[in-house]
Amino acid sequence: MSNKWKFFWVVSFALVLFFQACGMHSWEELLVSAADEKKMGREFDSLVRDKNKDVMSSGEELFSPQNDAQQELYDYYRARGKEIVKVIDKKDMETLLPKEKLCRNNTDNRNEKVACTKDNFFEFKIIKSKQLNAFAVPGGYVYFYTEILKENNTNKNGFRSESELMSVLGHEVGHVVLHHSRESIVKQAALAGVIDALLGDGIGSVLAQLGANFWLLGNSRENESEADVKGFEYTNKIGISSEGLSDFFSRGLKSYNPATGQCDEKKEGSVMDAFSTHPPSCSRVNDNKRRMEKAHQNFPKDRSERKFTDIVKAAGI
Ligand SMILES: [Zn+2]
Repeated sequence: MSNKWKFFWVVSFALVLFFQACGMHSWEELLVSAADEKKMGREFDSLVRDKNKDVMSSGEELFSPQNDAQQELYDYYRARGKEIVKVIDKKDMETLLPKEKLCRNNTDNRNEKVACTKDNFFEFKIIKSKQLNAFAVPGGYVYFYTEILKENNTNKNGFRSESELMSVLGHEVGHVVLHHSRESIVKQAALAGVIDALLGDGIGSVLAQLGANFWLLGNSRENESEADVKGFEYTNKIGISSEGLSDFFSRGLKSYNPATGQCDEKKEGSVMDAFSTHPPSCSRVNDNKRRMEKAHQNFPKDRSERKFTDIVKAAGI
């Protein structure tokens, strides 16, 4: 072994020990801390609330329930999100929670910031929009557009079961848990040559240079399939069918044959312009089916008599 390689291995080994000693999980955490992630998410969320043009299209706004039926839908959606959060591994959760008091106090004064816990870290929101999409940003902010929640005569691609909602919720939470946004911001900062800003002026300066809509760009294939695996883990733990992921994605694929239930991976790319931040593909549909087979999964797609699709219908969103 040359001296150069010896040096490389010694440094690598030292870095691993250093991360472990600091309770860190990756070198990206050195550049973007859990507190940075929460602050970025909060910043993005305030742009959403202000209907900022960089992150919201014309006519889009944060959904706020106007009647009892809409309140039922909102409560149901958030309760399903919390159900996913409950089954997140303790170790995974620890990587998300900042030490600083940066989370919202859910009980009384909503502006007061309190310590982040498993119960208050994630925030599940709905955006009134004609886009068929859902996405998550760092710090546990998860957004679903109204269009993806509903299926009706004009929209044939919205959710058709609780399993579809839970599978996509699990996928989005998976992105947050796996720190995918942090990974892409460090990558993008390096590509844009602004890594020195990350080290010096911090994350705010990097985001200013990359643009506020950075989070709305698509995820990489690897990150998509990793988030699918996490989503599967959650639905499987909860005891609801994971098939919703395949059901939902296959509707967005021209290479899927509903008659045979087969998806031709060689015809990838012929996708509809839907779910743009998490592009569906045959391999994702087929991988999900394989995971279900391997786990011998036989859970229901809807767990209660009052179906998710009926709740959506009643809300008239
Ligand atoms: Zn995704």
